[in-house]
Amino acid sequence: MRTTLVALFAGLTLACTTAAPTVAPSPYADTLVATASGDGTFAQLSELDRVTRANGGNRATGEPGYDAAVDHVVAVLQKAGWRVTTPEFTLGDRRYRNVVAQSATGAPDRVVMAGAHLDSVPEGPGINDNGSGVATLLEIATRMGGSPPVAGAVRLAFWGAEEIDFEGSQGYVDALAPAEREAIDLYLNVDMTASPNPGYFVQGRGDDLAARLTALGAVPDRLDFDGTSDYAPFVDAGIPSAGLLAGDAEEKSADQAERWGGTAGEVFDRCYHTACDDLDNIDRTALDRFTDAVAGSLAALSTG
Ligand SMILES: [Zn+2]
Repeated sequence: MRTTLVALFAGLTLACTTAAPTVAPSPYADTLVATASGDGTFAQLSELDRVTRANGGNRATGEPGYDAAVDHVVAVLQKAGWRVTTPEFTLGDRRYRNVVAQSATGAPDRVVMAGAHLDSVPEGPGINDNGSGVATLLEIATRMGGSPPVAGAVRLAFWGAEEIDFEGSQGYVDALAPAEREAIDLYLNVDMTASPNPGYFVQGRGDDLAARLTALGAVPDRLDFDGTSDYAPFVDAGIPSAGLLAGDAEEKSADQAERWGGTAGEVFDRCYHTACDDLDNIDRTALDRFTDAVAGSLAALSTG
């Protein structure tokens, strides 16, 4: 995630005017939310941390940790029964792999998609940014299995080079034919879901997400897109998109602290883009809430 301060607070004004959306009933969403959990996500995150540490201590694109993480994510998804591909993108004079998994079930012309960047900055293991987003999708993928009872196909993506200039997600969108872009009903971006002084932010077409977070006890702030994560290539291509995040280098306001807990006047993630973004830099309540909100939304939107 790369953020601009002005855009973040400008988007906040939206929060006060809209009525709280309600959670649409979905039996499959209820089932999936009952099985997916923050503990399961933390177990996935611990595995990703182990792979990262065993391969240089970061997952920067071009470093061995990124390639090892790609192989790890592919193995987790294949074990859960997903159809996995590793479409490549170009960065400099080299080619790198994204990871894309699609359910065997559901109509391929009405896709609900979620993506999280797998790379980190070179400075550290990137456990909150964005191991938490990757682990959230891996937990959900494991609980869903590759053949869930859905009407629209579910697609999960793990991007490279977000921390450079989104070359992974941009390369993916550029390679889509017009009909393939049309087939994506929603792209949901998941970038940082466990900041230690957590915030709850929803961007774009996130009414269902916002309703689920509200029902889980955290009324989110609604933000405009500001071009600082992998939703940008999708938004630019006119694909309906949403995003969620727990906050990075900005300070939590007094009003936010009152609603979400944590410390006013302190940044959401004190270890953002540094060596201390490790397993101790994770808020377990936020991780659990975001896991349930994303699981519920993916299930509800792909069965609705
Ligand atoms: Zn990030």
